[in-house]
Amino acid sequence: MTWKNNCPPPTMAAGDQRHGFNVLRVEQIEDIRVTAYEMEHVNTGTKVLHLHCDDPENLYAIGFRTPPTDSTGVPHILEHSVLAGSEKFPLKDAFNELLKGSLQTFINAFTYPDKTIYPVASQVRNDFFNLARVYTDLVLRPRLLKESFYQEGHHLEFTDPDNPESELTISGIVYNEMKGAYSSPDTLMFKAIQESLFPDNTYAHDSGGNPEVIPSLTYEQFKAFHRSYYSPSNARIFLYGDITTEDHLQFLAEMLSGFGKTAVDSLIVSQEKREKPDYLRGAYPLGKEETAVRKTTVNSAWMLAENTDIETALLLKIACAMLVGSSAGPLRKALIDSHLGEDLSPVTGLEADFKQMVFAVGLRGTEPDEAPRIEALIQETLQKIYTDGFDPELVEGTIHQVEFHGKEISRTSMPYGIILMGGAYHTWLYGGDPLAGLNFPLAIRQVRKRLADNPAVFQRMIKSWLIDNRHRVLSILEPSSTLIEERETVFRQKMTDLKASLSAQELEKIRTDAVALRRFQTEPDTPEAAATLPRLKISELSREADKIPTEKSLLQGVPVLRHDIFTNGIAYLDMAFDVSDVLEDLQPFLPILGKLTTSMGAAGLDYEAMAKRIALKAGGLSCHLASANNAAGDGNWQKMIFQVKALYRNVDEAVKILTDILTAGDLSQQDRMYDLIAARKNGLHASIVPSGHIFAKRTAAAALSLPACRDEQWHGRTQLGFMNGIARTGKGGHSDLAEKLDRLRRMVFRLDRLTLNMTADQEGLATLSQATAALLSQLPGRGAGDAPSTARPAALSYFVPIHRGIAIPTEVSYVAKAFKAPGYADPRAASLLVASRLLSNGYLYKHIRVQGGAYGGMCQYDPASGLFAFLSYRDPHIVETLQVYRNAQTFMTGSRPTREELEKAIIGTIGALDRPMDPSTRGYVAMIRDFAGLDDAARSSLRRKILAMEEAHLGDDISHYLVEAAASGIVAVYGEENRLRVANAALTGNSLNLESLV
Ligand SMILES: [Zn+2]
Repeated sequence: MTWKNNCPPPTMAAGDQRHGFNVLRVEQIEDIRVTAYEMEHVNTGTKVLHLHCDDPENLYAIGFRTPPTDSTGVPHILEHSVLAGSEKFPLKDAFNELLKGSLQTFINAFTYPDKTIYPVASQVRNDFFNLARVYTDLVLRPRLLKESFYQEGHHLEFTDPDNPESELTISGIVYNEMKGAYSSPDTLMFKAIQESLFPDNTYAHDSGGNPEVIPSLTYEQFKAFHRSYYSPSNARIFLYGDITTEDHLQFLAEMLSGFGKTAVDSLIVSQEKREKPDYLRGAYPLGKEETAVRKTTVNSAWMLAENTDIETALLLKIACAMLVGSSAGPLRKALIDSHLGEDLSPVTGLEADFKQMVFAVGLRGTEPDEAPRIEALIQETLQKIYTDGFDPELVEGTIHQVEFHGKEISRTSMPYGIILMGGAYHTWLYGGDPLAGLNFPLAIRQVRKRLADNPAVFQRMIKSWLIDNRHRVLSILEPSSTLIEERETVFRQKMTDLKASLSAQELEKIRTDAVALRRFQTEPDTPEAAATLPRLKISELSREADKIPTEKSLLQGVPVLRHDIFTNGIAYLDMAFDVSDVLEDLQPFLPILGKLTTSMGAAGLDYEAMAKRIALKAGGLSCHLASANNAAGDGNWQKMIFQVKALYRNVDEAVKILTDILTAGDLSQQDRMYDLIAARKNGLHASIVPSGHIFAKRTAAAALSLPACRDEQWHGRTQLGFMNGIARTGKGGHSDLAEKLDRLRRMVFRLDRLTLNMTADQEGLATLSQATAALLSQLPGRGAGDAPSTARPAALSYFVPIHRGIAIPTEVSYVAKAFKAPGYADPRAASLLVASRLLSNGYLYKHIRVQGGAYGGMCQYDPASGLFAFLSYRDPHIVETLQVYRNAQTFMTGSRPTREELEKAIIGTIGALDRPMDPSTRGYVAMIRDFAGLDDAARSSLRRKILAMEEAHLGDDISHYLVEAAASGIVAVYGEENRLRVANAALTGNSLNLESLV
């Protein structure tokens, strides 16, 4: 992908009429290189915004205002169900078929508190219009079959489906998804705040669905909600990319023909301001073995101004970022330094996904009776800031961050267009200017002017919107080790009562309905239905793998890779230090070393001063660890990678900051050190419930390959246990942590371990090279210093290959099974990539998600870590899921894919390989490939093998592999303790070793 540094010339003007659309406004925003067109469809009133630019990753998103009036989750269940099929595309699961066989770079749907958005993106024009065509039809004319409602929403069934004597239970994909969400403390805190601040409008309800309320939703209410809100008159369509506005309008005119204007009452009423602060106390589930001491979170939250009050909204965004956005933020600092809690509440910051914005801040790792002191501290600190004002450097640093992040082309898990889309809907949905949030240069000019007119403008914001604003809440969320059991007891009683109240006929109907649903789910689509979906041909795919410009050379003897890529005026520098010979007992310290190096003081400055310096001159400074096998299968690499990014004008200063932290980092401030450790420990702990499948995979895989072992040591449950230990022993001052870290950094931060990686255009590369040369002259060189061990570590022996069940407090489980797998050079790599896709979107999707009711079921083949893994996410089953995995292992032997299925999988696999990357990621990935010795010729050869894949070939390879790998398969299940015990009773001979989380 390439970007250029200019807006496309306008092709129409305000007042024009094209294809039945009125052009309302045309505006260019130079810094993000777009020409924006705001339009309206005359016949239906559909509003359209196109950001025309030269990005080939085009995005189409249709969004509706969908304010709920209850917590049945009807907007969310609808979001899942409309994508099943329409009259024109009468499939059982059109979404999954699109996912399988298109070059989509993004396909999803989002339920927000008041809107539902359906975005798709692709880099290939024909594919893009295919996707947009199907999506629009599905959304506007869905079939909404009863079966979809049962499957996605909720339905009753017997725990043993064929046996009416067994217990009744409720199943449904959204139902299980939300059970997972209601086990996460962060989600629960956020919901509590939302309900308290908005008691009188639509936000009093949970659009996602409260698991206790979801079962009360009827099929009729579900259909009625679609009729009310999914009309073109209530739609806002967001378009982004290099396809012309003209072509989009022509396409949309066709899509909207046949629809007229309808009156839709979807107005979101503002919450009236109240004069009395609210107080809340709630609970979240805690693991039985975990201590409840210092596990409470306390939050203050305020309702702020309307999103559409653009000037106030902008000033508030900056004011809130100054308060808590960096380590130099005075409110963040006061809370952390108070030690009333361990780290900042994850529900901290400004939230703009409501009509009236919300600001929240608080502490995690505290006790309920600290709440009044925490609240008082917040108020006192705000008062002090109001009186004394903000540090001018902090003001400048925060404005610099707005500029930097406005300018940066960033595409991580989502297209860049999605980021712009989010900003547009924040104002557009409420009748405001959709471009207000995107035009950051204008915003910065306005802020500077306001600041010049009134230097106390931010203090005034704080006074009126925080200090004097009594529309706020103090929310306490405490741990409960009995909550899950209580919920389950109530649920079982409900089911028992329900069953007792039903006649034999009614019970029989539940059984036959469930059987019918299962039959519906197992029957494949007819060939005629399948043929309705437009699809690319394999011949339309490019044969060659995308190449990333890379020039290799030496800078003062250090290997350097330079990537000449357009970056919109931002320079990216990666510094990768080899850590493969770091002794085993020091390996778990590496993540903390990275965290502390980037977040403590340096070169005579304390951490606050350093944080200010970073905010002023860098767009970000971070460190992470990465490891993978070599492509040839002859070893592996392990690196500690520092990354810094800066506007060209700040490169010198940014590299100096990096030099200071690497050569003159200050590890002496014990308090700060343990605050950071607590924050990392709590963050890791909180990420387990939302990413349980990843943790389960790490646990299962740890004994299978060295990169997997490192992943577990650095990022998994093992790291969490290690952090807990350090946090426990640390603060007394008896620890030798600082000493160990000092030894480690003297060993690691050296020239002879270093590879440099630079990404920018020619101008930026020259600046970077110059700045970096100065850095190198200060790093210790070869020879001297602590000599690392020369013996290769026996890391794998750290993890015993046994099946494990890890107890975590959640109502749904995460089931992983991992196997050793070959690397890139193996002739079967291409088959395994395609086969894992076929299984994920086919067999596993069907059995674990559609029939099992789990939120997700998939497999992954990762040649870089030498792993193949089956995973499930928010899964109501354990034993059944493991049986599905076993069946999947032999499924491909008996059931060869049809040519059509295979072609879809090939297209999907190529689509995944061609996933677009933002400029910094392209440079980074080129470096990773270099470490692994994966060259363009090998990538192109793999690609050609995928494109030429044949049915027999694929079946033989995967069957052969899975038979061979079966012996290495290791299971790890993260789930609730009782469920693990019940599962173990059924898993005779293969039982799980039950362990507590830490
Ligand atoms: Zn969902």
